[in-house]
Amino acid sequence: MAVPKINKDECTGCGDCVEACPAECITLVDEVAVIDEDECTECGACIDECPEECISE
Ligand code: SF4
Ligand code: SF4
Repeated sequence: MAVPKINKDECTGCGDCVEACPAECITLVDEVAVIDEDECTECGACIDECPEECISE
């Protein structure tokens, strides 16, 4: 898979994906999750964690 995409319009900034990411490459910027694409290992863990289902492959 590729680096996941985050739908900025749907993200509530809950931080669940930040906690779930084993690579610690997700941060909240202005209450929206942002993935550091250079650090992402494409493991997919964040996709399952998002309660808004706004992270996709
Ligand atoms: S795919 Fe894995 S490494 Fe990449 S942002 Fe999601 S949880 Fe982090
Ligand atoms: S888990 Fe989903 S709603 Fe929560 S901060 Fe991450 S992308 Fe946004």
